[in-house]
Amino acid sequence: MHNETLRPESTPDDLASFRPLVQTGVHPEGTLVDKYGRRITYVRLSITDRCDFRCTYCMSEEMTFLPRDAVMSLEECLRVASVFVGLGVSKLRITGGEPLVRKDALWLIERLGALPGLDNLVITSNGSQLDRFAAPLFAAGVKRINISLDTLQADRFRQITRIGDLGKVLKGIAAARAAGFRRTKLNTVMMRGVNDDEFVDLVRYAVANELDISFIEEMPLGEIHGRSNTYISSDETRSRLEEHFELLPSTEDSGGPARYWRIPGSSSRVGFISPHSHNFCDSCNRVRITARGELYPCLGQNDAVNLMEVLRSGADDAALRQAIVDSMGIKPLGHDFTQQMEAPQVVRFMSMTGG
Ligand code: SAM
Ligand code: SF4
Repeated sequence: MHNETLRPESTPDDLASFRPLVQTGVHPEGTLVDKYGRRITYVRLSITDRCDFRCTYCMSEEMTFLPRDAVMSLEECLRVASVFVGLGVSKLRITGGEPLVRKDALWLIERLGALPGLDNLVITSNGSQLDRFAAPLFAAGVKRINISLDTLQADRFRQITRIGDLGKVLKGIAAARAAGFRRTKLNTVMMRGVNDDEFVDLVRYAVANELDISFIEEMPLGEIHGRSNTYISSDETRSRLEEHFELLPSTEDSGGPARYWRIPGSSSRVGFISPHSHNFCDSCNRVRITARGELYPCLGQNDAVNLMEVLRSGADDAALRQAIVDSMGIKPLGHDFTQQMEAPQVVRFMSMTGG
C-alpha cells in the first residue's frame, strides 16, 4: 500500500505520466480505485467457458472445457457479484463462453437483476438461444444485449463459427426487439479476406433493424495461427464505410473502449473497438472474472487473483471483499498487445476470460 494522498479524480494526463497516484483500494465514495486513480465500476463476469459455437478467432476446433467442479457455481457467481456491487460496481456484464448455454443461467440473472445498486445489468451473447431467452431476460431487468454477428451469409457463418446456424441468430435478434430490448448492439470481429467485404452490408442491416454495431480488431488471445494475415485496423474499416455512409463523430461516451460515430437520419451508432490502433487503457473502468473464479484486472495481461480459493475456503464476505480490494494493486496501466499477432500474447482464449 502507498501512503500518498488519495485523489478523488484522475485525468488522462495523470495516467500518461505513469505515476502511481493513489492508495489502491476503496475510494471515499465507495468505488474501487486502482493505483493509477481509475475507478472500477464495471465487472464482466464469465459464467461458463462452454459454447455452442467454435468461432475460429475465439476457440480452437478441439477445445477442452473445464470440469464442472472447477467452474463457479451460480451461487458463487451471485456472491461475487453482490460483493462487487457492495464495493460500488454499478454495471455488470454476463458473458462467457456462451452464457445462455449455462444451465439455470436465468436463475442467476433474475437474482442479479434484483440487486439494489446494480443499475446496469447487461449480457453478451452469440444470439443462438435468444429466441427462447429474450423475453425472460428482459423481465429479469437485463438492460441491453450485445450480440456477435460477423457475417450475414449462412455458409460463411457456418465457416466462422464452425457449427453455428445464422437463421437462429437472426431469429434471436428479432426476438430481442420483440421482447422490448432497444439499442441492441452487434459485435463484428474484423477479418481481412473473411468478412471485410460485408462491413457495408452489416451496417445497412444494423440501420434497418435499429441496432448499434461495433467493429472489433481481433486480439491475440489463445493459440490460434494466421491472425496477422487477417488483421484490419478500425481506421481502415471506417474509411471504407465512409465511402457509403456519412459518419459523424459521436460525443456520447459509452464508458467503454468503443469510439462511436452516428449516421445522420438513423438511430444506429457505429463503434470501433481498437485495442491495437487506439489503446483504450487510460480510461479503463473494468475488471473481468473468469468462470473459474479468477479476477483478471486486465484482459491483455496474465496477472490474476484467485477468488475461487477465497470462496471455497469458507471465508466470509469481508475476506472476499478484501481480496477484491487488494486486486486493485495489480491492475496494470495497460495491455501491450502488438500487431505481431502470430504468437498468443495472452495464453487464455477469449472464451476463458470472458469477452
Ligand atoms: N459467446 C458470446 C458472444 O460470442 O458474444 C460471449 C462471449 S465472446 C468471447 C465475447 C466477444 O468476444 C464476442 O463479440 C467475440 O466476437 C469476441 N471475441 C472472441 N475472441 C476474440 C478475439 N480473439 N479478438 C477480438 N474479439 C474476440
Ligand atoms: Fe462462443 Fe462467443 Fe467464442 Fe464464438 S466468440 S466461440 S460464440 S464464446
